[in-house]
Amino acid sequence: MIKVHNTLTGTKEEFIPLDKAGRNVNMYVCGITPYDEVHLGHGRCYVVFDVVRRYLKYRGYNVKYIQNFTDIDDKIIKRSNELKIPHTELSRKFIDDYFTQMRKLNILDADSYPLVTGTVEDIKKFIQKIIDNGYAYIIDGDVYFSVRKFNGYGKLSKRNIEDLKSGARVGVDERKEDPLDFALWKKAKPGEPFWDSPWGKGRPGWHIECSAMSLNEFGFDTFDIHGGGLDLVFPHHENEIAQSEAALGKGFVNYWLHNGFVTINKEKMSKSLGNFFTLREIFEKYDPMTVRYFLVGQQYRSPLDFSDDKLEQAKNAWKRILNAVEKSSELIKILPSGELSENVKKQAETFAKNFTEAMDDDFNTPVALANIHFLVNNLFLFHKNPPAGLNKPDVQTFLSKLLEFCDILGLKIQNDTDIPAAVSLLSEKRHQARKEKNWQLADDLRKEIENLGYTIEDTGTGTKIKKK
Ligand SMILES: [Zn+2]
Ligand SMILES: [Zn+2]
Repeated sequence: MIKVHNTLTGTKEEFIPLDKAGRNVNMYVCGITPYDEVHLGHGRCYVVFDVVRRYLKYRGYNVKYIQNFTDIDDKIIKRSNELKIPHTELSRKFIDDYFTQMRKLNILDADSYPLVTGTVEDIKKFIQKIIDNGYAYIIDGDVYFSVRKFNGYGKLSKRNIEDLKSGARVGVDERKEDPLDFALWKKAKPGEPFWDSPWGKGRPGWHIECSAMSLNEFGFDTFDIHGGGLDLVFPHHENEIAQSEAALGKGFVNYWLHNGFVTINKEKMSKSLGNFFTLREIFEKYDPMTVRYFLVGQQYRSPLDFSDDKLEQAKNAWKRILNAVEKSSELIKILPSGELSENVKKQAETFAKNFTEAMDDDFNTPVALANIHFLVNNLFLFHKNPPAGLNKPDVQTFLSKLLEFCDILGLKIQNDTDIPAAVSLLSEKRHQARKEKNWQLADDLRKEIENLGYTIEDTGTGTKIKKK
């Protein structure tokens, strides 16, 4: 049973997908606003949800993962004016940066990356629906959401509407019926990019975009998981809930997952403090897999503190894993084929059970990593001092578990011939299938390997994998 901490209920709950067959999971994570380079905070968020996605897949779910790009908003307009380039050019540039850095972190691509600029028609329909349902009003080309009309406002961030009201800045826009009301549609100021709408020329507000883009992808219906950084709980996600439930007339999302903040040497990361690191800068100093190892080294909800010391520790721990893979691969070559020992088999099962239990418990990656290191220690012991009767399958069993666990955490192991862990794992499974004379499965696995761009060849001494 997978348990996740749901911000909406404030508790750890059993994860039960909406899908009646219990297989399909719909998941949406707020994407970046591409007006600048991605930084460590982004790296953490997308690594966190990449692990969630990979683990759900490992547990047999079919995950549809959607992540947007907020490619038009105040920051983008401001920056494109400063740089005197079109907003489309600016966002393209930083979307490219997003992909460059995130792929280095071995983050799987989303199933779809909707752009706000490509969804404006749907966003307009969505706003109209909210107006029709009586939750929004139009003033002089702007459309506002009427917060007081929505009963559940504050349920995600646990804020009380009266407290919010006394804290709201009065006088920001005197035309609003209530200072808490927020814009669904913003009237274009002179010189700003705009789209035509029934309410006049303008563009969507930030919050409505995510509601419309997610529901668009999931058939305008309640979906399973919405993720994002803790900083998005209020007002962004609170407003997403209000708009979406006002439009849907029922629940928007079942499980809200939020990852913790990143600090640098225990200080808040900020440009003004000069401790703001882009991923590009960090990768000049550290290998991306070291950074990923560091990021998964902390449970996703806890704050994560970045320092050179901690990165050095991560670097050494990751190196130790790579080393164990290399040493065991050498060992496998010289060991007799023989039988898998009962003891190793049992131990491997225990490691797998412990790994799964840790991950089932709200994705407890530090404990999962500890299990990887148990395997590593065992493999080093085998290498240093092979016990009598140690056979190939003993080492292979631990090694394939190690590769499998690393793959779930997205830690990419490349051995000397540059074979990704996923391919090695498939090859290992194929080897097993052949041993069990399951030719159909072996053949399917070969095709999977080929689809990943590798060829596989069975020789007298074993299997050779080559890049196509
Ligand atoms: Zn969102
Ligand atoms: Zn969002």
